[in-house]
Amino acid sequence: MRIYGYTQLTLLDYPGKLASTVFLGGCNYRCPYCHNSDIVTGNTNLPLIPEDSILRHLMKRKNALEGVCITGGEATIYKDLPQFIEKIKDIGLLVKLDTNGTNPAMVKYLHEKGLIDYVAMDIKASPDNYPAACGLSEMSMSEIFETAEFLLKGNMDYEFRTTVVGGIHTVEEFEKIGKWIEGAGKYFLQIYRRSDKQFSYEGLEVPSHEMMAKILEVCRKYVPSTVIRGES
Ligand code: SF4
Repeated sequence: MRIYGYTQLTLLDYPGKLASTVFLGGCNYRCPYCHNSDIVTGNTNLPLIPEDSILRHLMKRKNALEGVCITGGEATIYKDLPQFIEKIKDIGLLVKLDTNGTNPAMVKYLHEKGLIDYVAMDIKASPDNYPAACGLSEMSMSEIFETAEFLLKGNMDYEFRTTVVGGIHTVEEFEKIGKWIEGAGKYFLQIYRRSDKQFSYEGLEVPSHEMMAKILEVCRKYVPSTVIRGES
């Protein structure tokens, strides 16, 4: 497991909780707008952080913290993820997992073992637009559908979220996304912002306020609680 980042205290990464965030390197996607391309590829000067030093810090701050957000990169690519989370749960903290949804077996296993309390799954695009949003020429959607269905039909606390990117997304495709995730409890639209660590900038634009408003209107037909997260 490659840990490249650790935020000791945040109110932003785990909804409603005072949390720490662990950033794992590596990912099976190459989303052009990714803000963490350096740790996704491993092409970084950032030192790896030993698991033990994070666990020691969590133990020391366990009374002040409520939870830990595991993000990346894509955490579910690591077979030893359950063992790491077990150690966090032994400390007595809640765990939120951020995932692109490509490893339903891992998500289900973590849930069955009581190792995760909240899942945030990316819905990258409508199914036919997924390869463009993920930076891949071809890909399988079956795992994505399986994870989304598990969350939709199960008893796990979760959210779906989409980073809306001008040049990748269209307003129209949110009809398809809405039909796909209809009935979801929480759906967040996040506005793409440029970062100096993206894989690509070509053709990518910050979506206009008007575009976001139209997308929000479409999504609310299917998921009435849809909100735009972090709108300023
Ligand atoms: S945005 Fe997420 S899923 Fe996409 S490449 Fe970056 S870490 Fe992977």
